[in-house]
Amino acid sequence: MAAGQKIPVLDIHAVDHCNFHCAGCNHASPRTPRKVHDVKLYVPLLKKLAELTRIDRICIVGGEPTLHPNLSGFLAALPWQHLADRMCLYTNGHWLLKKPHILMVSMRASN
Ligand code: SF4
Repeated sequence: MAAGQKIPVLDIHAVDHCNFHCAGCNHASPRTPRKVHDVKLYVPLLKKLAELTRIDRICIVGGEPTLHPNLSGFLAALPWQHLADRMCLYTNGHWLLKKPHILMVSMRASN
């Protein structure tokens, strides 16, 4: 990568597991034990990365990120604005109709 060039995408796992078992899952979530990630592990790494480069898009992924028990706190604690132009949430959408507040919380945290 040339100096000054942005990294296109950085995936951050909120959790590793998923409520679906898709055969073609490229994150191996159907075979992954339940794992919830602590945002405190990511914060120093993102701050260090911000000193070195910029990223076009940070994607919050899993597994299924809406299975994180404190997704709003996870998103709010990520210092992504110093590093990336955008943050997005990759979800299978299963909970969004049943629990629409998850979408609202995610949208607030990413603004
Ligand atoms: S919904 Fe996504 S993360 Fe979950 S098993 Fe399917 S492909 Fe993997």
